[in-house]
Amino acid sequence: MSGPGQESCLLRGRESAKMNLNDRIAVVTGASRGIGRAVAEALARAGAGVVINYTSRADDAVAVAAGIKASGGRAEVFQADVSRPDQAAALVDFAVSTFGRLDILVNNAGITRDGLLLRMKDEDWDAVIGVNLKGAFNCARAAARIMMKARWGRIINISSVVGLVGNAGQANYAAAKAGLVGFTKAVARELGSRNITVNAVAPGYIRTEMTASLPEAVKKQLQERIVLGRLGEPEEVANLVVFLASDLAGYITGQVFVIDGGMAL
Ligand code: NAD
Repeated sequence: MSGPGQESCLLRGRESAKMNLNDRIAVVTGASRGIGRAVAEALARAGAGVVINYTSRADDAVAVAAGIKASGGRAEVFQADVSRPDQAAALVDFAVSTFGRLDILVNNAGITRDGLLLRMKDEDWDAVIGVNLKGAFNCARAAARIMMKARWGRIINISSVVGLVGNAGQANYAAAKAGLVGFTKAVARELGSRNITVNAVAPGYIRTEMTASLPEAVKKQLQERIVLGRLGEPEEVANLVVFLASDLAGYITGQVFVIDGGMAL
C-alpha cells in the first residue's frame, strides 16, 4: 500500500541519504572564523570529518574543533599558510594520515589589502594574490592527487561577487577572485573524467570580521543595494557549500554560484 504521504517520506529518505556526508573527509582552509568556520561546522553536521586549517589563531581553531566534537562530530586542527606550497601539501597529507582519505576541499582562506591602484603597494598585490589565488592552487594541486586515485572529489573555491563585477579600491582582491573563476573552470575540465567536481561560490556581503571593519555609512549604502535588504550570514554560504559537496550536486561542475541577496542583479 502506498499513499502520497508514504511517497513523500520515501523521497525525503532518499534526499537525506544523498545529503549525508558520513563517509566523507573535508579540508576547509581558513576555518578558525567567519565563513570557513560556518562551512566546517555545517560539513561536520552533515557527517563529514573535518580538518580545520588556520594560520595564526590556534585558540579559535581548537575551539571550533571542540565545538564540533562536543556535538558528536569529527574534527582536527592543522596550522598551514596556504600561500606556501609546502604547507598546503602538508595540510593535505595531514588529512590523509589522520582520517585515511580526503574527499572535499573548500578553498576558503582569503585576505584583503585594499587600496586605490596608484597607491597599491607591490606587497599588497602579492599577498592578496598569494593567499586567495595561489593558495587555492596549492591546495587543489595537492588534493587532486588523492581525489584522482579515489575517483571521487569535490573542490569548492570561495570567490566573491567582487571578482565578477569589480570594486574600486580592490584591484588585487578582484583580480584574485576573478582568477579563481577561471581556475575553477579549467580544473573542472581537467578533473571531470575522474568524477571530481570543481565549483566556485561567490558571496556578496556576509557578516564576518572581513566586513565588520566597514564604516557604518558604507554598510548602510550597501544594504540599500541588496534586494533582500540585509547582509548575508556565514551559515547561509555554508548551506550552499554543503549542497555542492554532497551527492545531490554530482552533475554540477565548473559553475559559479552567486550568493549575495540579489545585490549584483
Ligand atoms: P575572515 O577574515 O573572517 O576569515 C578569513 C580566514 O582565512 C581566517 O580564518 C584567516 O585566518 C584565514 N587565512 C588568511 N590567510 C590565510 C593563509 N595564508 N592560510 C590559511 N588561512 C588563511 O573572512 P571571511 O569573511 O570569513 O572570508 C572567507 C572567504 O570568503 C574569503 O576567501 C573571502 O575573500 C570570501 N568572501 C567573503 C565575503 C564577506 O563578505 N565576508 C564576501 C565574498 C567573499
